[in-house]
Amino acid sequence: MASTRLFNLKRHLPELFELEHLLVRAGARVRSKVLTQVSVADTQLPIHALELGSDAPGAPMLGLIGGVHGVERIGSQVLLAYLHSLLERMRWDDSIDCQLAGLKLVFVPIANPGGMYHNSRCNPNGVDLMRNAPIAAKGKVPMLLGGHRISRMLPWYRGPKDAPMEPELQALHGYMEEQINGRPFNLTLDVHSGFGFKDRLWFPYAGAFEPIRDLNVMYRINRLFVKTFPNHTLYQVEPQAHSYTTHGDVWDLLYDNSLIQQPEATFLPLTLEMGSWLWVKKNPRQLLRYRGLFHPELPHRRSRILRRHYPLLDFLMMATRSHRNWMKTKPEQVDKDTRAAIKLWYDGEART
Ligand SMILES: [Zn+2]
Repeated sequence: MASTRLFNLKRHLPELFELEHLLVRAGARVRSKVLTQVSVADTQLPIHALELGSDAPGAPMLGLIGGVHGVERIGSQVLLAYLHSLLERMRWDDSIDCQLAGLKLVFVPIANPGGMYHNSRCNPNGVDLMRNAPIAAKGKVPMLLGGHRISRMLPWYRGPKDAPMEPELQALHGYMEEQINGRPFNLTLDVHSGFGFKDRLWFPYAGAFEPIRDLNVMYRINRLFVKTFPNHTLYQVEPQAHSYTTHGDVWDLLYDNSLIQQPEATFLPLTLEMGSWLWVKKNPRQLLRYRGLFHPELPHRRSRILRRHYPLLDFLMMATRSHRNWMKTKPEQVDKDTRAAIKLWYDGEART
């Protein structure tokens, strides 16, 4: 039985095979748990959560999430490559221990293993997990793409009305709430691929054009990144609603709930949307396979993408750990940053 499972994983879900291999090798360097299991083809596929660094209840937290859309495997692979490097560095690099002592780093690299097993965007029930949270967009959304309840045979299906969230999303949502709870500072990055020619770094809202309360914090993070890595201007940083609005975005739900549950804390959920149209443009043969729309097929391009986002992931870790050094809390400074952010992102002027 165990050998059949390994065979199946290697063939259909090499990302989970790699993750479980990393877990075994990591030993005590990582704390891990299974959030839930998904049944696929007589096999139970776990959703693993991995925790590194400080376990202090008030430590700042960085959460890295991938594979919410099963066909966007490159997102999981980017996180697994980063995790691999961290674990290797923990063997010999004193500075990484020092860094991790000051924050909690959480990975959920394969949030939709059933979808990934089937090479499908949605979960095995045909539901798009990023349209499934019980939160509706304010105003109109693009037809189908914004989320719909017409049929699970069509992409972007939200799931039946008033049904509970899908098991994968319940697990992710519950785990993230648990992690955020009681912490003064939290950042998350959910890694996707598939939209546009550029890599985009989105912040909430996905379902509304209105600015978030923490717009000033987003402004600071953007400024910090641009000033620290002036030659790494890969990302178009913007509210997700600038690209398209959607119903049911779980990060919108978590963000709004965090404002109610712990208004004094900061929680900023970011999404990295890697622009896969560029990979298709450079290698049109990718169009011949469905997954080619979302995943770089050529090995050299895949390697390039796996290393391309290291600086961003390192930066988010440093920014989380040292948030007290760059966060501005005086009301006049918060107002000034908010005004600058509105000018940058909401006045129709030049964007970064
Ligand atoms: Zn996606």
